Amino acid sequence: MLVKGTATVIKNAGSNFLLSELPEWRPFPAVLKGKIRLKESDSTNPIAVGDRVNYEIDVPEGTEDYKSLITENQPATISEILDRKNYLIRKSTNLSRQSHVIAANLDMVYIVVSLYFPEIKLPFLDRILVTCEVYGVPVTIVMNKVDLYREHATEYIQYFHDIYENAGYRVVETSVKTGEGIDLLREDCKGKVCLFSGESGVGKSSLIKALDPALDPKIGKISIAHLQGKHTTSLYEMYNLTNGGWIIDSPGIRGFGLVSLEKAEIALYFPEMLKLAQDCRFTPCTHTHEPGCAVKTAVEEGQISTERYNSYLGMLEEDTKFR
Ligand code: GDP
Ligand code: ZN
Repeated sequence: MLVKGTATVIKNAGSNFLLSELPEWRPFPAVLKGKIRLKESDSTNPIAVGDRVNYEIDVPEGTEDYKSLITENQPATISEILDRKNYLIRKSTNLSRQSHVIAANLDMVYIVVSLYFPEIKLPFLDRILVTCEVYGVPVTIVMNKVDLYREHATEYIQYFHDIYENAGYRVVETSVKTGEGIDLLREDCKGKVCLFSGESGVGKSSLIKALDPALDPKIGKISIAHLQGKHTTSLYEMYNLTNGGWIIDSPGIRGFGLVSLEKAEIALYFPEMLKLAQDCRFTPCTHTHEPGCAVKTAVEEGQISTERYNSYLGMLEEDTKFR
């Protein structure tokens, strides 16, 4: 008898996949067979981690626990890819025009930052935030290593909160060293498919390990050992958090953001500017030289931060295609 189901892709290693139904966590292998309509044909991985798919498996009549019969030698067959609610992509290589889907159907992207060691570059963070706005993925900024700045840089902590909270983003503070904020973050991840991203050195691996000691990105302990067999390592993989929730660890952050925007579009992805744009005298308004510009007034009056506005100007000046 043919059993059909819907599951989430938790690993994609070329033509072999691992699926699990969520919230249940019971990984099983699957392959792509026959003709299937692929929507993103210019992508190197039309099926990405986080994609929801329909699958089929042929099992003997009357089988109850059919998933126990799904093995490497008799994998399930993916029959359909369901529509995505969102996704993030990067270029597959620097020169390539092809793209690689990092992950799909994200409930939250945690952008881990550190104010110092390594020092944060706000325009760089703003670009990542714009990318997340473009692709419709919700974002939380995780300010890690607060133990390091609390003593000597309390003003900068507040300054950072003000900039990003005024812009409409949530900022949470964590310290892997003192443990503060970790319980809160663990609670926040419950029931969500989360992507963790951050520049190298900000403490992303330490943070993931603190959330769930069973996961250790640095030593790769988070592989699904018993199903490793034919599956080669893949860049992105979903892991189950013991306390609930699923995480995808994204190596680095630079690759994020294959996005090409018209100059006139950029301001749409700065939420605090978008809110005011209707009050500008001209539509469209680039918020640069136009008289009666509500955004410029808000910058002058301090409701929009100069840093965010400068990031915006920087993006306008550049080639419209940025990374
Ligand atoms: P990743 O490259 O972002 O994965 O960063 P790691 O997790 O490897 O951490 C980089 C360095 O920062 C390591 O030496 C960590 O011990 C240290 N670190 C991570 N989190 C914290 C924190 O909250 N406070 C302090 N003081 N150091 C931290
Ligand atoms: Zn304007």
